[in-house]
Amino acid sequence: MEEIIYLGSHISLTSPEYFLGAAKEAKSLDENCFMFYTGAPQNSRRVELERMSIPAGRKYCEDNGIFLDKCVIHAPYIINLANNENPDSYAFGKSFLKEEIRRCEAFGIRYLVLHPGSRKEMELEDSIACLVLALKEVIDPSSNVIICIETMAGKGKEIGRTFEEVASILEGVGDPAHIGVCLDTCHIFDAGYEVERIDEILDRFDKTIGLSNLHVIHLNDSKTYLGSHKDRHENLGYGAIGYETLRKYVYHPLLKGIPKILETPWVNEKPPYKEEIGMLRGEYREAWRDKFN
Ligand code: FE
Ligand code: FE
Ligand code: ZN
Repeated sequence: MEEIIYLGSHISLTSPEYFLGAAKEAKSLDENCFMFYTGAPQNSRRVELERMSIPAGRKYCEDNGIFLDKCVIHAPYIINLANNENPDSYAFGKSFLKEEIRRCEAFGIRYLVLHPGSRKEMELEDSIACLVLALKEVIDPSSNVIICIETMAGKGKEIGRTFEEVASILEGVGDPAHIGVCLDTCHIFDAGYEVERIDEILDRFDKTIGLSNLHVIHLNDSKTYLGSHKDRHENLGYGAIGYETLRKYVYHPLLKGIPKILETPWVNEKPPYKEEIGMLRGEYREAWRDKFN
């Protein structure tokens, strides 16, 4: 029996069809799963769930080979729970994350990706403790939503730049049914991990975090060099990681059931995902980006 490989991309949720529109867009790009923000990633304004065509979107996924159980919601990056120097924004982050969990449930989506945040002027250990405390407060034990902490590039004061840091967040929360990890290939490369040595990377991941806690992969090439701490995504095969390496993350036996979500840049105002996914699904490699002029 052939195993299913789950490939999708970031899709935006837009008026008027919202979830249904996103599902149609994913289908048109040959995706069998996808990721979205429930509104603009940089703000907290959200359309009411009633207007998001959720039942129709769920039905569309079911009828069109899109696996809802492999789809992902990305929490907005304005949430920063890794610092509580400003009690208002810390409290805001917690209540917003609680609402995101509720929204995940309404969509029928299990994975909620969260950036661990910026420690700003706090010490690393205090910052991790601050995040752990917030997560424990936010997690709803009766929910089946898993908050997936994303591995970060280490830009500025970002926490979660090493597997050890991510592991201590998970250990602190101590609830693997509600907290897990999203591994971003661009981010770990920019953080200094030699992504091409996949077996070593996965072994290190397993020994620190545990592979059973890995639920989502963000598959991106990087515009910058190993250890740059920049976080600049590139199209697959056009960056410093390279196509051959990225392809290994799609087909590695230890990563098979995990959804791979592309967050690569658009080319000439068009999404490149149909071509990038086509390339990953087939054996061929061609300079598809030239066709985007
Ligand atoms: Fe992210
Ligand atoms: Fe990412
Ligand atoms: Zn990124």
